[in-house]
Amino acid sequence: MSDTTTTIIQCPHCRKETPWQGNPFRPFCSKRCKTMDLAAWADEEYRIASEDSPGEDESDDHH
Ligand SMILES: [Zn+2]
Repeated sequence: MSDTTTTIIQCPHCRKETPWQGNPFRPFCSKRCKTMDLAAWADEEYRIASEDSPGEDESDDHH
């Protein structure tokens, strides 16, 4: 018996199989995927937060 079982996970960003152990970017396969995914999250949150005036384009029927 050994403790060297390698757990393989799937990168949530690019779906590439990557080992869990010794992976500083887990659950991502690489720094790039981690950065890209976090950036996507941040971008989405920023877009939702800045959307504070919805439907303003609909009030142009007086033209
Ligand atoms: Zn990846």
